[in-house]
Parts: sequence; C-alpha cells; structure tokens
Amino acid sequence: MIKKVLLYIWQLPQHLLGLFLFVCYRNCGRFKYRGKIYQYSDNIPGAISLGNYIITGSKRQITLDHEYGHTVQSKKWGPLYLIIVGITSLYHTQFTPNDKYYTVWPENEADKLGGVIRDKYGKRKTTYEPTAEEREIFC
Ligand SMILES: [Zn+2]
Repeated sequence: MIKKVLLYIWQLPQHLLGLFLFVCYRNCGRFKYRGKIYQYSDNIPGAISLGNYIITGSKRQITLDHEYGHTVQSKKWGPLYLIIVGITSLYHTQFTPNDKYYTVWPENEADKLGGVIRDKYGKRKTTYEPTAEEREIFC
C-alpha cells in the first residue's frame, strides 16, 4: 500500500494533468486494462498516457499496450516524465514521419515495455495475452 502511495506521488505531475484531461475530454467510457484506467474519448485522435491515466481515441489492443508502455516509463522517470518523455513524444508527433514514429525513442521503448513488437514483415503486433474480460474492451 505504501509503495502504491509513493509511486502515485512520484508521478504526481502527470497524474494531476491526467485527472484534469479526464474532465476536459468527453468521456465515452472508462475501463481498466492491465491495471490502468483508460478513458475512451472520440475527441482525441490518438492517445495520451499520464501515469495511471490514459485517454485514448482507440480501443485497439496495440494502442492500449503501447500506452501501457508509457505508464512504465512514467514510473521510471517520475516527475521528469512530462519533460523527458512528454516533450520528446510531442516533438515526434509533429516532426517524425508516420512510418518512422514507432522506431524512435520514447515510442520504441513504450512498444517494448508494453509488449508490442514487429513481426518478420515489419508490422507491429502485440505479445500481451489479455484476460477474457480485457478482450471485451477491444474494437
Ligand atoms: Zn507513444
């Protein structure tokens, strides 16, 4: 319990921003996946991961697993996550070609941490085996 509280405080900047965005973005359904809270919204084109809170415009498993990888990065970087991972990721959304986006850090690391790999054809696929309950989330 104390570890969970300390981890929450360690990631407090992204948790506060995540809670704020949960209010701002239209809530089309919340669900828990891999122990994290996801809010589906049709107002967001991609997804954003802020500590334990993820806002996503997609319920594809590969997206959810990639965002889960960012939650692991959040634990690692703590209060520096928004500066180190957030700004770098934001930069890549603007200036990195779509076909290269998941090959650059921190996106490639988020894939790896979330269990997303590339198959022999170079196509991304996920290796995480969801529970039966989690399978019902996917679209
Ligand atoms: Zn990402």
